[in-house]
Order: sequence, then C-alpha cells, then structure tokens
Amino acid sequence: MLKAVLMIFDEPWPENELETLGACPVCQSTDRTVLLNGLHDMAFRVAPGRWTLWRCGGCSAAYLDPRPAAAFIVKAYERYYTHGEGEVFRLDPPGPLDARTRFTTGVRNSWLNRRYGAKLPGAIPLGWLLAGLFSHRRRRVEQVIRHLPPTKGQRRVLLDAGCGSGDFLRIAGQLGYQAMGLDFDAEAVARGKAAGLDIRQGSLPGTGLPPESVDYITVSHVLEHLHDPVGTLKELYGLLKPGGCLWITQPNLSALGLKEFGIAWRGLEPPRHLTLFEPAGLMALLTGLGFERISLYDAVPHADFYYRQSLAQRIGQDPYQPGPTPGWSPEWDAKVAAADAAAAQDASLSEALTLTAWKPA
Ligand SMILES: [Zn+2]
Repeated sequence: MLKAVLMIFDEPWPENELETLGACPVCQSTDRTVLLNGLHDMAFRVAPGRWTLWRCGGCSAAYLDPRPAAAFIVKAYERYYTHGEGEVFRLDPPGPLDARTRFTTGVRNSWLNRRYGAKLPGAIPLGWLLAGLFSHRRRRVEQVIRHLPPTKGQRRVLLDAGCGSGDFLRIAGQLGYQAMGLDFDAEAVARGKAAGLDIRQGSLPGTGLPPESVDYITVSHVLEHLHDPVGTLKELYGLLKPGGCLWITQPNLSALGLKEFGIAWRGLEPPRHLTLFEPAGLMALLTGLGFERISLYDAVPHADFYYRQSLAQRIGQDPYQPGPTPGWSPEWDAKVAAADAAAAQDASLSEALTLTAWKPA
C-alpha cells in the first residue's frame, strides 16, 4: 500500500549499479563544488534515485556524481521513447493544409528549393522572395534543418549521431545529402530501417565507421546523455573529412531557466543527462580537440517549452500531460518573453545552445 503513494525517485538507484567518479569526466579535475543537490527524475519519472550535480572548477562543465553505470543506464530510459513522438516535423507535411499553413509551407519550400536545389512540394513560385520578410520564421527553419550548408550538387555524406528513428535523415536527404544515422536503441533503428532510412545500430564512442568518411555530423540532444562525451567528440573528429563540420545542440548550462527553476529546470533531466556544458566550456573543449571556426548560433525562442515543462516539474506534475500547463499565468508569459529577448541579445543565455565546429581542411 505504502509503495503506491511513494514516487519512483523515493527509491534509491541500486548501489551496485552506480559508478562514482570523484573527478570531472571532461577534464579530470578534482576541483569542484556542488551546483545542485536532490535532483530526481521529474521528466519521465521512471528512474529511481536522488542525484548531485557538481560544477567543475577546471572546465566549468557540470556532471552527476555518482551516476548510473553505463551497463545499467537503460533502466532510466524505460518510458523515454513513448514521449514526444506525436508530431514529426516534415518539410512535406501530409495534407490537407489550411490556407495559412499552405502559404507558410509554400514560402519555406520555395526558399529551400532555391537554396538547396531541392524539389520539395507545395512551393509558391518566387515565394523565396518573401522569405526575407519572415526572418524569425526563417531562423527557426534553419535550426530545424541544422544549418546545413547547400551541397551545390556535390556528393555530401551526413551522419546523425544518436538519430533515434531517423526523422532528420529524411529532411537531410530531401536537401541533397546522403544521410545515415546511428543509434544505440535497437527498436528505434528497426523503425527507421522499416521507413527506408540508412540507420545502423552502434554506440558513441564505438561507431565502427571509417575515419574521414563524413562531411557533416549532427549531434542533437545526445552529448549530455553519454558516459564519455570527450571520447565521442574525439571519434567524431576522426570521422570527419578534412574541412568537415560538426553541429551540436543541447541544453545550455548557463540558461536563464536554470537560475529560475533550479533542480526543476527541464534541461537537467537526471539521471539521463550526465554532463552539461556552458557555451564557453564546450567551445574550449572543441578547440582543444583540434576543431576551428567554432561559432555559437543565435538563439531561436525556446523558453516557452522549457519554462512550461519546468513549472510542471516544480509542482510535481507530469510535464507531458496534455492540456494547459498547471500553474501557468500571464506572469509566466512575460517571463518567457523576457528570457527569449535576453537570449536573442546574448545566445549564451538561451535555454539550448547550438554551435558548429569545423575540422581544418
Ligand atoms: Zn572539468
């Protein structure tokens, strides 16, 4: 009876399924302070345990210690893929579309067809001329297509490392890339293969792919989940052809939302997020690995998602429940607008950071 009213995180993560680090998994420094204590799985509410997030005095990264050992982390993903699968973004949305969506899709696809030599349906003739009028919308589209450079008719290989069931591979393929994906989850790989996508099962690091074989690698909300982010970045550097590019997006440790919500901030997601970076720390790490021309992208407005989810988490509710956000008020709309405005001025304050880093030619 009692068990029914206890939450899963009131149970401890089994001691023999933990690993203790004692030092930063990024730079090995033992100089550290507690950033936040008492973290627990507020997002999917499947993982037992309470967690401590440390801030490294050496490289400014934050990391859980102790953390679930790699062999047992799968337990933290039990409900993971059942969420967030509802809406897959498509450049060719299945109809019928209302007039407004038909217009915005038509302008967007006209712009993409012209820029990428693509053949996306529904493009409005000369619609690309209007794209300049909708610069906010265009920034969002550029984020969705992960800032891909046009292939200009050349053969360009893209790897989406941690691709899930491969939604982005379809988009990259439509924009002219030879797109392949890698994921550790057998079920996701099978779903993607069934949809005709080039997906392999593999780990990070440990992709098994040949060195210098890829032009563009994307890592979307993946690095923070890995036990060995530095080993992974080294391997990805090796997979890139000279002159190739690595694109990363992930929650930002210097986000305003973290200051607002503390342990309830959605970007923390313990114990699945093991390591988090500030933009400057991640850029320094990439420089040390040999990357150059590292640049942080302007933020697209994300605060609405992060603040709504964080607020639900703070009052102990499921952030994915349908309907209005519990506890939301017009005050929160104002806070979201202020957070997005601050991030638009200074991308290092955004809820999620996006950057590209190039391998020297
Ligand atoms: Zn460190």
